[in-house]
Amino acid sequence: MYKEDIEMAKKARLFSYSPYSNFQVGTTLRTKTGKLYTGCNIENHGIQGICGERTAFAKALSEGERDFESITVVGAKKGEEPTEECMPCGYCRQFMSEFVDENFKIYTLQGNEVKEYTMKELLPYSFKM
Ligand code: ZN
Repeated sequence: MYKEDIEMAKKARLFSYSPYSNFQVGTTLRTKTGKLYTGCNIENHGIQGICGERTAFAKALSEGERDFESITVVGAKKGEEPTEECMPCGYCRQFMSEFVDENFKIYTLQGNEVKEYTMKELLPYSFKM
């Protein structure tokens, strides 16, 4: 696990646009070549908001990236430190599974401890055509 990814996710979290939930999420997506793409959640009046995970993937994918190693996710209410685990939602798990293998790592924070999961653990029976 890379400390840098956590720090970048925490900074990206501050760009969150979340006036409805006041829940700010920041992410750092790491490619297999070591490039980092950050993301945050972006809400709107309707239901078309986007989570921090998919924001980071959209940034990376739209620049041609296809090989991903891990994503780090931190989240908490505005003004609070992210000390509780912030897990990817079901939509993001299915979305990410399109582009990663089952060993792709998902990191999140529990207190000061980094928790590590694999894609297979978070989405053992994903939809595939
Ligand atoms: Zn999500």
